[in-house]
Formats: sequence, structure tokens, C-alpha cells
Amino acid sequence: MTENLLNATRQNLKTYFGYESFRPQQAEIIAHILSGNDALVIMPTGGGKSMCFQLPALEFSGLTLVISPLIALMKDQVDGMKINGIAAEFYNSTQSFEVQNDIKTKVAKGELKLLYTAPESLGGLQEILNENYISCVAVDEAHCISSWGHDFRPSYQKLNFLKKSLPNTPIVALTATADEATRTDILSQLHIPQAKQFISSFDRENIFLEIRPADKRFKQIENFLFKHQDEAGIVYCLSRKSTEKLAEKLKSSGFNAQAYHAGLDSEKRSEIQENFVYDKTQIICATIAFGMGIDKSNVRWVIHYNMPKNIESYYQEIGRAGRDGVKANALLFHSYGDVIQYRRFMEDAPNQEVQLAKLERMKQLTEATSCRRRILLGYFGEHLSENCGYCDVCKNPPKFFEAGVLAQKALSAIVRTKQTEPIGTIIDILRGAQNANIVDKNYDQLKTYGVGKDTSWRDWQHYMLQLVNLGYTEIAFHRGNALQLTELSKKVLFENEKVWLTKPQSDLGVKSSPTKTKTKKKTTLFDQLRQLRMQISVEEDIPPYLVFNDASLKEMEREVPLDENAFMSISGVNKNKAEKYADEFLEVIRDFQKSKRKLKKHTTLITYELYLSGKTLAEIEQIRGLKSTTIYSHFSKLIEDGKSIDIHKFLDEDEIKKVKIALNSVEHEDALRPIYDFLEEKIDYGKIRLAKTYLEK
Ligand code: ADP
Ligand code: ZN
Repeated sequence: MTENLLNATRQNLKTYFGYESFRPQQAEIIAHILSGNDALVIMPTGGGKSMCFQLPALEFSGLTLVISPLIALMKDQVDGMKINGIAAEFYNSTQSFEVQNDIKTKVAKGELKLLYTAPESLGGLQEILNENYISCVAVDEAHCISSWGHDFRPSYQKLNFLKKSLPNTPIVALTATADEATRTDILSQLHIPQAKQFISSFDRENIFLEIRPADKRFKQIENFLFKHQDEAGIVYCLSRKSTEKLAEKLKSSGFNAQAYHAGLDSEKRSEIQENFVYDKTQIICATIAFGMGIDKSNVRWVIHYNMPKNIESYYQEIGRAGRDGVKANALLFHSYGDVIQYRRFMEDAPNQEVQLAKLERMKQLTEATSCRRRILLGYFGEHLSENCGYCDVCKNPPKFFEAGVLAQKALSAIVRTKQTEPIGTIIDILRGAQNANIVDKNYDQLKTYGVGKDTSWRDWQHYMLQLVNLGYTEIAFHRGNALQLTELSKKVLFENEKVWLTKPQSDLGVKSSPTKTKTKKKTTLFDQLRQLRMQISVEEDIPPYLVFNDASLKEMEREVPLDENAFMSISGVNKNKAEKYADEFLEVIRDFQKSKRKLKKHTTLITYELYLSGKTLAEIEQIRGLKSTTIYSHFSKLIEDGKSIDIHKFLDEDEIKKVKIALNSVEHEDALRPIYDFLEEKIDYGKIRLAKTYLEK
């Protein structure tokens, strides 16, 4: 029986959601729930958790009750369901009494498949909370039930009554938090201790991980944004003030940015959020408060202006990018200043030791010289057997060099300042700086003063941090961050021990300064499809990503569907959406194809006119700025179209004869390559194509 249900579900995956196949674990989880079992589903953000209860909901005879903490999200989620042709509603405190009653009536009549609600609103649903109506309960963001979790909500603890009221109804709890203590707590509080746990990989393969030092941060961000025009993203900052400052700076550089933080009134906050969700604001500069309440699948990048205080936060924040599975970027800027500031914050924390240890792991990630993803996933207990190939370290592995002498210079500056100075002053001494601090303390008289002149400040900083990380020197956080000697420093100073450091990455994307005005890029089919999506979003008042997500538009651009059948096969196109939108999208796609063809046609005609006016091949090449092979292909095309071209102007008799022999000798006469090979690469492709067209004509 379950087998049949699962098959029906597979059908529904296409009919209602437009997808061809399940993601890992989805099929198992769905089969498990359809058989009436409880489950705990742990999947990273964007992994496809919702499908795990939405698809079973379509098969159950009664209602699937979805409990979610985020009232702000419910409308979008339910809108998304409705667009897909699924009978869904939400029930919460923002609705009028009449609307609430209507919904309960619908439930009683069995007209709804899914009902979203917040735990606080369950009291109002008493009369339908029994097994006559309810077939399944989904507890979304289930970590909120646990005080171990990072996002505890007391109202979630009321959910412990569910299993008692609905003893035979499967309960499925879902969350993106993997941590063991939280998991156990969820199961015990929901009274489903035997529930099967489904734990998916935490890898978000489509997110490119990149971590850079924080110097010239604004310039780096500007350059990043020039490469990601029109892509929506979030810059996370530590303070309210810096979100505002950054947003202002970005605006004055011509970017569409806004600041978001808890200090703004709630009306303003929802306006900013909505503009972002509806693709009207491209960039949000936010404190970490932003993101919890949004479900936007086409966030293409996340930038950390400051280093997060632990890997959990980092992972959660970058997870907001690329939920549609299309390539996305996570770029983090780290500085020692951040570390020092966090340490100060943590000084009085009750669990200071844990926090410091977590900070240390975060710092190690930023300074890693091996695959970032392996370190990141390793932190969560998941071990990759190979490097990921999709992080900055994999793409651009650091180069090591023997830096014994360099280290000796730095360490002896530390000795001569009696271990009382922080990194900055040590670098000043090495570089022979002449500021007041140096002069007042007579550091310009030291023997090491200026011995590191030929290394830039930035490079010195890079080396000093490595020396700290490798244990050649230590920072005394309680004594003005002064650098201290260690056992290892003595080995370098007195035993000439070799020291291996990495070179700084030379290209931070800041060298070539981009022009301030955005360069006009050619509009692609993707751009045009996005425009249409925007238009529909405005007309129907739904977020653009709910019309089609970026993944679907990218696939349309790649596959160029020209009829309804082909359109249906695009991932994300379901029955409802095909009926509603196929015409409009196909029109844009067909028009784009036509204009591309016209452009091609046009270019051969220009060549033809030049030819008619008596220009030689070399002249045509020069005027048009095209390679000879391209011009030859224009002539082939012109001959095919029946234009009279005297090919003897371009080919001599001998060449034509040779191509003729080759044509008769090779097997695949349609392809050029065999002819080219046969002629021992002596006649180029353009000429072969031209002769071939002529001969075949
Ligand atoms: P989560 O709740 O785990 O964060 P969602 O359920 O919102 O993730 O799913 C993230 C995105 O992945 C959505 O755009 C969803 O439509 C898409 N998705 C889910 N399952 C599939 C699938 N089997 N094939 C393709 N896309 C899917
Ligand atoms: Zn990697």
C-alpha cells in the first residue's frame, strides 16, 4: 500500500511542484510518514524539508497541521502552496475572527490539506484538534522546543500535549540544527522517543566559500558587487551603526542597498524585508537579526563584514544563500580586531570557556590553509574524504616558503621591546615607521628598526598572524595584547629552526579599480525572464521567487524550451504554473531566439555588402574586427542562401581540389575535423568550410 502511495507522491512531485526527482532522503522520509510513523528530520536550510510533509499531506485523507514559529513567513509559505494548486491556509493572531472561523469551517468540511499555525494559536483550534480531522502534524523549526537550542521559544513547550490528544497521528519534527542534546530534547518533549531520525548531509555544495583578510574591505565589497550586479544578497555587520554606515556608502556608490537592524521600528523593518523579498532592494546590510523571518530562495550571496563569533552562526548565516540550489557565494572578512573585541565581550560571560573555545575554532577556519569545507563540515562531525574543490583554498592553494629569517626579524623585535608591544607596534618597528608612539619610546634606536622595510604592512600582518597561529609567538590578551615569546620562538632565534609560512594572496580583487558607472552588459535571456517574473510578481502580489525560482529560469535559459511540452519538462514547472505562465514565458523565449537569429543574419549581410563593394578578405577582416575563419563562415552561409560569391577570390584551385579529395575519402563527411586531419592540418577550418559548401552546392 505504501508503495502505491509513494508512486502517487512521485507523480505529485511533478504535478504540484514541477520537480522530476527526490532529493536525498526525501523519498525515505515520505514513505516513513505515509506509513503512520513519527520522524525527526534534520536537514540543512534549503535542503527541502517542507516537501517531506507537504507531499504526504496530499495523500492523507485529513488535515496536516503545520506548526511554525514564524508568523511572518506563513503567508508566503501558504501563497506558495496555493500557486502550486494545493489547498492550504494559515491560522494566526493576525487574522480577524471571521477569517479564523471560515478556516475552521473549511477544516471541518475536509476542504484543506495543510494548515499552518503558530503554537500560541493552537488554543483557538481546540474543536478541530482531534483525529476526526487531523492526519499528520509537522513541527517546523523544532529546535525551538529545546532550551539547549539557539532559538528557544517557551510557547513551543506547550506542544507536548500533541501526542496525548492525537495518539495515532504521525508527528514529524523538522529542523536544521544537528546538535545531539537538542535532538534528544525534541524527541522527549514531543513524547515521540522512538521516532526515527533522518539526518542529512550538512554540505551546501552550491555555496562557494571564501574568506579574506579585512583590509580595504569596502573596496573589496564594491568589486565583489560589480561582479554580482542584480544579484540579491546580505551583508552581515556587527553593529547597528555599521549597517547604516555601510548602506550609506554603498548607496553613494550607486548600489541599491538598505540597512536593517533591531533598532528600527517594526513597520520599517517589515517594509525593508518585503522590498528585499520582492527583489526591489538588492542589498541588505543587516545585523544577524535579519534572515530568520525570510524564506527567499534567490539570495545569491552573503558577505560577513565581520567574523561571526562561532562556526554555528557562520554556517547558519551563509545558509541563507542559494536555497534554490543555484550557485551562490559566501564571503567572509576577518580581522584580528574582531577577535580581540569578541574576547572582551566574552570576558564576563558565564560560559566563557565554551565561548572562547568556539571563537578559537572560528578563527582557525578563517586562517585555514586547507579546504575550508572539510574544516566546516568536520566541525559538525561530518568528514569529507576529499577536498571540496569549491572554496577559495581549493581554487587557489596557498604557496608556502621558508621564512626563518623573516621570523627571526619579528621575534627579535619582540625581544628588544621586552615583550610589551602588540602586533601593530612590532610591525611599525620592522617597517621603520616614524609615528609618535615609535619616536616617544625611542624604538627608532633599536637594532631591528627598519629591518623589514621591504615587506609591506599588509604582508607583515599576514606573516605575524601566522607566527601567532603556529605558536612562534603568543598574544597576552590581558596585557594590552602584547606579543610574548614561546618555546618555539627560542628554536627559531637560537637554533635556526626552519619556519614555513604562506604568501599572502596577491589578488584580492582590489587592484584594478572598476569604473564607477556600472558597465552596461548585454541583456541575456535570463535577464529577460527575470523581468517577466518581476512583472508577474507585481501583478499578482507574490514574491518573484514564488513565480519561478532562479534555478528554473537558469534551466529555461540553458534548455531554451520552445513549446509547451518542453516547457513542462523544466524543473520547477508544475501543472498549475504551466497553465498559467507557459504562454508568457514561451513568448519571451521565442522572441529572444528570433532576435538572436536576426543578429546572426544581419552580420553575414554586412560582410556581403563589403564584399560587393569590392573589399578584399583582409580589408573585411579589419573593418569588421573579425577573424578570417568567421568571415569564411559568413561566405559559406551566403552561398548556402543562394548569393553568388566568387570563391576563387579566397581559395586557389589547388586548395579546392584537395578538399574535394578529402571529402571523398573521409567517413564523416558532415564534420570538418576529419577533413582537416586528412589534409594534415594544412588548410584551415574556414577555408575547408567554404570549399565544402561550394563543392556541395
Ligand atoms: P528547507 O525548508 O529545508 O529550508 P525548502 O523546503 O524551502 O527547504 O526547500 C528549498 C528549495 O528546494 C525550495 O525552493 C524547494 O522548492 C526546492 N526543492 C525541494 N525539494 C526539491 C526536489 N526534490 N527537487 C528540486 N527542488 C526541490
Ligand atoms: Zn575546499
